Amino acid sequence: MAQTKFVLEEKDIPQAWYNIIPDLPVPLPPVMHPGTKQPIGPGDLAPIFPTGLIMQEVSGERYVEIPEEVREVYKLWRPTPLYRAYRLEKALDTPARIYYKYEGVSPAGSHKPNTAVAQAYYNRQEGVKRLATETGAGQWGSALSFACKQFGLECKVYMVKVSYQQKPYRRSMMETWGASVVASPSPDTNAGRGILAEFPNSPGSLGIAISEAVEDAVSRPDTKYSLGSVLNHVLMHQTVIGQECKAMFEKMGESPDMVIGCVGGGSSFGGIAFPFVKDKLEGKLDVQLIAVEPEAAPSITRGVYTYDFGDTVGLTPLVKMFTLGHTFVPPSIHAGGLRYHGMAPLISLLCEQGIIEARAVHQTAVFEAALLFAQAEGIIPAPEPSHAIKVAIDEAIKCRESGQTKTILFNLCGHGYFDMAAYDAYLSGRLEDYAYPKEEIEAAMRSIPQL
Ligand SMILES: *Cc1c(COP(=O)(O)O)cnc(C)c1O
Repeated sequence: MAQTKFVLEEKDIPQAWYNIIPDLPVPLPPVMHPGTKQPIGPGDLAPIFPTGLIMQEVSGERYVEIPEEVREVYKLWRPTPLYRAYRLEKALDTPARIYYKYEGVSPAGSHKPNTAVAQAYYNRQEGVKRLATETGAGQWGSALSFACKQFGLECKVYMVKVSYQQKPYRRSMMETWGASVVASPSPDTNAGRGILAEFPNSPGSLGIAISEAVEDAVSRPDTKYSLGSVLNHVLMHQTVIGQECKAMFEKMGESPDMVIGCVGGGSSFGGIAFPFVKDKLEGKLDVQLIAVEPEAAPSITRGVYTYDFGDTVGLTPLVKMFTLGHTFVPPSIHAGGLRYHGMAPLISLLCEQGIIEARAVHQTAVFEAALLFAQAEGIIPAPEPSHAIKVAIDEAIKCRESGQTKTILFNLCGHGYFDMAAYDAYLSGRLEDYAYPKEEIEAAMRSIPQL
């Protein structure tokens, strides 16, 4: 029987995170101050982030050592397994070789603890007592709740209202780890009260919840803010995923022709892809890198590459990224983690440079792919990585039609065991596709600030 599950040993957990900044083909555009419209300095971020993370955000060092205490917590689930999807290949009758890296084995059930643990560690190092954050689908909130408990910090989570209602057990999970959770927009902040006054039935969005969490952090001296995606240091923490994949492929004497991942803010995709991007930029590996986003929030495929705010209200610095306009509230698709108006600046730049390509898919096609995967491989995937599964399946079918034997790697960045309401909607025929929200996006595009 051929080997199905490939695992490294505990000692093979990476010793350092990979920082792609020094290897970029062109420099990353500076982050701008929302008031002065001039590049910001590390000091401007001090009210919301600890120095250790600010230094990582702007670091030019290629490898940043992972603190021993962080590696100790990583040992609870890392190294994560790499699977060869023989049963899916058979179901598709494809000559393609399909592999997936499974991050759902972490305590919170996704890749998010890779950065949550690191962020909680650096905050604790600097005497921070409490972290405030937002969560979309609930995965980031659970990861940070778990990480805060590991390092003795309090945690306040602003959870996008539609997810708060769709996923009550994600909230219970966060509360089990000791966090306090409110539905966003909430009456706890000025930003939340403002939106509730104007739109009492707002389903919330990541952009709104970020506004609330940032306001919470700047208004309390014991509190910092923590972001689960988008930022350079977050994508860097996630590179443990791609480094483990590379090490395993090297052991097997193989390498991927294609690396596929879903993108909300871009952290799980950056995490699996960046170590391979390095080889591609150095001309050592001919690999296609595919970021998959929802048709309902298509920031790369339909957005513009320009400076915009990271949140809805306009409290954050301006970053150059693919954006649909910061006031755009994406339709309430079930892949809550992908409902974001922007994209990580690092992913955006690599797309702009043609090193990474992007595709957009509709949610019913995504769930169809998720079911096919679950029935073949057993694991029930989260709706977010099911976007990657959909494209991996499309590519495997192309291989069948052309007779090519490509090696496809995708990131199964989370399980779907808290997403059964979404599966229920699909199975009972209640799941609908949202048309590309053209008017809403055009209106939001006009909210993009001029520099
Ligand atoms: C948060 C999340 C996402 C979206 O965020 P990225 O930063 O793009 O990875 C996707 N999948 C899962 C399972 C998540 O938890």
